[in-house]
Amino acid sequence: MTEPIHNPTSSRQLVDTTWLTSHLDSPSFCLVDVRAELPDMEIGYPWGHIPGALHLDMRELFAEVDGVPGRLVSQSAAERVLGRLGLFTQTPVVVYDESFGPLAAQLAWLLVHYGQADVRVLEGGWEAWEELDSPVSTEPTTLEPALYVAEPDGAMLATAHWVAAHLEHPDVVLLDVRTEAEYTRGHLPGALNLPYEGALRYDPAPKLRPLDELRRYFAGVGVTPAKEIVVYCQSGARSAHTWLALRHLGYERVRNYEGSWAEWSRRPELPIVGQREVERAPVTGVGGEAGMSVGPCGLPLAAPAQVVSTTGNVEQTCRSRDQVVAEARGQIAEIDISHLKARLDDGEPLTLIDIREREEWEPGHIPGAHFIPRGFLELQVEDLVPDRDVPIVVYCAGGVRSALGALALRQMGYQQAESLVGGFGAWKSAGFPFTVPTVLSETQRIRYSRHTLLSEVGEAGQIKLLESRVLLIGAGGLGSPAALYLAAAGVGRLGIVDGDVVDLSNLHRQTLHKTEDIGRPKTESAADTLQSINPDIQVIGHQTLLTSSNAREIISGYDLVLNGCDNFPTRYLVNDACVLAGVPVVDGSIFQFEGQVTVYDPAQGGPCYRCLYPDPPPPGEVPSCAEAGVLGVLPGIVGALQALEAIKLILGQGEPLIGRLLVFDALALTFRELKLACDPTCPVCGEQPAIRELIDYHQFCGLPQPAVA
Ligand SMILES: [Zn+2]
Repeated sequence: MTEPIHNPTSSRQLVDTTWLTSHLDSPSFCLVDVRAELPDMEIGYPWGHIPGALHLDMRELFAEVDGVPGRLVSQSAAERVLGRLGLFTQTPVVVYDESFGPLAAQLAWLLVHYGQADVRVLEGGWEAWEELDSPVSTEPTTLEPALYVAEPDGAMLATAHWVAAHLEHPDVVLLDVRTEAEYTRGHLPGALNLPYEGALRYDPAPKLRPLDELRRYFAGVGVTPAKEIVVYCQSGARSAHTWLALRHLGYERVRNYEGSWAEWSRRPELPIVGQREVERAPVTGVGGEAGMSVGPCGLPLAAPAQVVSTTGNVEQTCRSRDQVVAEARGQIAEIDISHLKARLDDGEPLTLIDIREREEWEPGHIPGAHFIPRGFLELQVEDLVPDRDVPIVVYCAGGVRSALGALALRQMGYQQAESLVGGFGAWKSAGFPFTVPTVLSETQRIRYSRHTLLSEVGEAGQIKLLESRVLLIGAGGLGSPAALYLAAAGVGRLGIVDGDVVDLSNLHRQTLHKTEDIGRPKTESAADTLQSINPDIQVIGHQTLLTSSNAREIISGYDLVLNGCDNFPTRYLVNDACVLAGVPVVDGSIFQFEGQVTVYDPAQGGPCYRCLYPDPPPPGEVPSCAEAGVLGVLPGIVGALQALEAIKLILGQGEPLIGRLLVFDALALTFRELKLACDPTCPVCGEQPAIRELIDYHQFCGLPQPAVA
């Protein structure tokens, strides 16, 4: 395992595919695949890799601390990750990425920083391997975990603190290897721009330029081994690659500033230079050109640069649109779509704000985004994000408005606000998922306007109601007021199970039905009333008794059940079916002058009906309303409370009556509340439930079977 890699065909720090092919069968090294995965295109380790390669997701090693990509994870976390791969510090390592990308170089840099003796990068990476028609494996490789004890070499690393302390140092050369465009938007004072693309990469073939050429190139701009060289880019990846190239050329004193521009630019105490007119430093010819000033490190400096304060006060009288945008970009951090997607996929708690106009938002937006049009951004952002330290990404259609928006947020103290480069256009073109939002029609905006005015409901809450599905058990005394309010509130689908027909004696309390409905099925009468109140919603009548054979199927079409039944077999049946289906039940019951309401939702940690009443009362002991009577207005109050609880559950607002029983005494006009506890031995929701299927509930309650309607 520790045998050094003998590699006559490639020079130090690189191996080529020929060498790798001949060494695959007798590996004396660890081969590590650090390619990014693109599941949509089936690109990445699981879809094919070099046989024997281990897989490493670089995001495990380069965490985003405070939203800054490219920072190393902690020493111990890195040791855990590398140890899990089976690496020892003395294990020779060969690493590859997609082509000659910087990810492999970044890992190489990290490993050398951690004292790994022998690290090589595969020239041309996966692309070169595939071109040769070499063997490909889809079998994941695992090694026994090893104890990785690293001895970091601080001389490989430059922190923001180190860079800030060496800004004026005559022996330190600061190299910005981002593109010219990125550099002119903003860079570290005194930094020389040597773009990684075009300078290091030898296009079109994705490999390093020939060594002699590279050596001349660096020497030509005064980057000599006599200097201490600090490289940085946007997030530390391209700079790691430059670091590798310089080491490859024999430069010993090279540091990678891992936090790079992403970190530097968002720390207001650190000075930056940024203005579109700043000239790029020459990349050919020895020394500075005529008229160039010489910096403290003896290198040609950019022409007089204007320091832009991070609060955005640039003293100029007139500025063009382009200048305003460029200045904004110089003062904010930008993120590209792949980084954003990776961070969202990682579940990072970042707030995504779409600042386009409503007409742009409605055809589609990034999933999870909040909608605040640019004109309202400063006015509404504090309601959405009270915490100034939360990472925020703003986006628009193309990345211009969001640059200005991110600047405004920074000025409000949101130091972690970033702008999405390319905006929603780039996101959509890349084939990344987007959501087409449900929006209210003009009529709906008016109908539900008193709802949407409430911040606890809003348009999003109203849409939730319209998309919700509630099943009412019974269209009687409790079901009537509940259904009326749920329909009026815009609950999108209301199911009603009732096998009964309207009777004259129902009408003193069952407000869904009218005198002319006597003799009609209650489901039909209810549907007519509800549709006339709100034609927006769908009413589904289940003209049947709820039984053990149909309950699970009926309930499966709903998110929530509102129970208004009047007998014990149905009460146990509804309870068991809903516990088995994981559907919450808003339960109500009435007797003479007393009503009770509670929510049974074992999925949320609350009790179920059986937790409280494991056994039914003896038959005939509890009289029904038909026998004992009920005040007509009582179910109106209890049913309306049930509708209230249902709406709260759908909106996710307030404190639901889970684990609480509300007892209403109509004569005394008092509400009492009793705490309800779960029973761990409950036969249906307990730790070891005995009931896994619906049973015969009439037999369970000691009652005769009902006559089939
Ligand atoms: Zn229970």
